[in-house]
Amino acid sequence: MAVKIQKPRGTMDIFPSEARLWQKIEKTARDVASRYGFGEIRTPTFEELSLFKRGVGEVTDVVQKEMYTFTDREDRVFALRPEGTASCVRAIIENGKASDVMPLRYYYIINCFRYEKPQAGRSREFFQFGTEMFGTKDASADATIISLADTLIRELGIENVELHINSIGCPNCRPKYREALVNYFKAHEESLCDTCKERLKTNPLRVLDCKSPICSEIAKDAPNTIDYLCEECDNHFAELKGYLDAQGIKYTVDTRIVRGLDYYTKTVFEFICKGIGAQSTVCGGGRYDGLMEQLGGPSLPGIGFGMGLTRIILAMQESGVADIPENKPVLYIAPMGTAARAKAMKIVSDLRARGYYAECDISARSLKAQMKYADKIGAQYTLIIGDSELESGKAQLKNMENSTQEEIEIDNVCNIICKE
Ligand code: ATP
Ligand code: MG
Repeated sequence: MAVKIQKPRGTMDIFPSEARLWQKIEKTARDVASRYGFGEIRTPTFEELSLFKRGVGEVTDVVQKEMYTFTDREDRVFALRPEGTASCVRAIIENGKASDVMPLRYYYIINCFRYEKPQAGRSREFFQFGTEMFGTKDASADATIISLADTLIRELGIENVELHINSIGCPNCRPKYREALVNYFKAHEESLCDTCKERLKTNPLRVLDCKSPICSEIAKDAPNTIDYLCEECDNHFAELKGYLDAQGIKYTVDTRIVRGLDYYTKTVFEFICKGIGAQSTVCGGGRYDGLMEQLGGPSLPGIGFGMGLTRIILAMQESGVADIPENKPVLYIAPMGTAARAKAMKIVSDLRARGYYAECDISARSLKAQMKYADKIGAQYTLIIGDSELESGKAQLKNMENSTQEEIEIDNVCNIICKE
C-alpha cells in the first residue's frame, strides 16, 4: 500500500469553512490600509539569503536558527522569506522608489517561513499582514502606524487586546544603555540561559525579550531604555504618547519590549492578547531608521509592523467573533429531464451573472435527494421544473423559510428573485 503523504510539520490546510474567516480578515486589512493611504506591494516568496542576513540581522534567532534556505541548480543560495520588511526595502532600493512622493506607504499579506517548534500560535509557514512607511521621522507617523493596527484589530471585533509601547533610543543614546544593561546582566550571568549568555556578548537587548522564566525574572529589574534616552528620542517618545492620547488609543509603556537590532530606533510596540496562550503577541512593530541604509539604499527613516494572522484568528475566536456564516443560494432549481435541466442551467447562469448565488442539480439526483440537498445548502427558494411545467411555462416557486408556494412564469423567475 502506498505511504500516506502528509503536509509538512507546522503548515496548514485551510478549507472553505475557515477560509471565510481568512477572507474577512484580509478584506478588512486591505480596506483599513487603503483608508490610511497604503498600497499593496508584492515581492517574491524567496530572496537571496544575504538579504535576510543583512536585513533581519546575523545574530537574530530568525537568521541563526529559523531560516529555510536552499541552493538552486546554479548554486545560488536563497531563503524562503521569514518576514516582509527586508524584501520591501530591497524592492524600494532596486526599483528606485526612493524618488517617489514621500512618505512611501506599502502593505502586504504574505506567507512567511520559519523553522520553529510548532505550537498554538506558532507555525512554520505562517501568514502576516504587514505595513511599511518610509520617509518620515516624525512621531505622528509612528502614531499613524499604530492607529492603523489598532483600527484593524477593533474592526475585526477583537477585544482584550493591550497595546504596549516603548522607545529603545538611537545610535546616540543606545551605547550608554547597552553598557548599563551588560553590567546588570553580567552580575546574573550564571543564572541566564545558554542562549542569553551568548546574547550578552552579541546582542544584549535581546536578553530582555527572552521567554525563559528565569531570564525574564532577572530582566524585570534590568535598567530601562527610556531612562537612557537622549533629548531627541525622549521628545519623540513624548510626542508619540501625545498623538496616541489625542486619538483615544490606550497604551501601556512596557520597558520589556525591545527589538534588539542595531537599526531599530526609538518606537517599538506590540499588541498583546492575553487570552490566546503563550504566543500572545498578535502584532509587533517599530521604527527602523537605519535599515534602508544598512541594505545599501538612501537614508530613509522607516516604521512598520507585522501582524500574525493565525494569532488574529485565535484572538477572534477568544472574542467570539470568528464564525462567518456560509453563503446561501437564493434559488435552487430541481429539473426533471434533460430539457428542464437545460432551462434550469440557463436560469441559474442568468442569476449568477446578475450577482446572485444560485444552483440547480448537476448530479442527476432523484427529486427527493435534490430537495434534501436544497435544504442542506439552505436555499431560500426552490423551483421544480418538469415536462408539464416547461409546456405551461409556469412552475411553483417555494419559499423554503415559511414553506409557502406561489405559481410564477418560469421566464420571470430571475426578476422575481432579484426583486426580493
Ligand atoms: P515572537 O515573539 O512570537 O517569536 P517575533 O518577534 O519573532 O515574534 P516578528 O518577527 O515581530 O515576530 O513577527 C511579527 C508577528 O508575526 C508576530 O507578532 C506574530 O504575531 C507573528 N509571528 C511571528 N512568528 C510566527 C510564527 N512562527 N507563527 C505564527 N505567527 C508568527
Ligand atoms: Mg520569533
